[in-house]
Amino acid sequence: MENARYLRYFEKIIVGKGIRITPQRRVILNVLFKNRNKHLTVEEIWNQAKNIFPQIGIPTVYRTVIQLEKIGILYKVMVQGNCCKYQLIGCDEKNKHRHFICTRCGSITDIYLPEISMEEQQIEKKYHVKIESQNIIYYGLCAKCIQSIQMAK
Ligand SMILES: [Zn+2]
Ligand SMILES: [Zn+2]
Repeated sequence: MENARYLRYFEKIIVGKGIRITPQRRVILNVLFKNRNKHLTVEEIWNQAKNIFPQIGIPTVYRTVIQLEKIGILYKVMVQGNCCKYQLIGCDEKNKHRHFICTRCGSITDIYLPEISMEEQQIEKKYHVKIESQNIIYYGLCAKCIQSIQMAK
């Protein structure tokens, strides 16, 4: 899918949830889309949004991000020091992922597994629920940290 269609797809979900698409919200969505392979703090989103829409204030970015997370189109990843990073959830199965956070260096790894949707189907069947989004985070040591701990021994 090309970018414009992707963006329209997200805009349709947002409108469907009763949120109006304002120029500011569109800018924020664009920034999130451009950085869909990264995890950004509200401040980082704001910094990029300002380049496109200089009048945009950080409270608007905060509010929008919280709204988008609530309707299930953003991953919210809590990192060290009570900071949150956000990432757009892709619109196809391939983009569905979970997060691994290293408790030593704070790095975030995206975990992609084809089994994720199978697992969700099992949950839906067993508990008679409909999963719309997930935000699962694993904690532990990343490969780099394991290596450096071993080297220090
Ligand atoms: Zn690490
Ligand atoms: Zn991610």
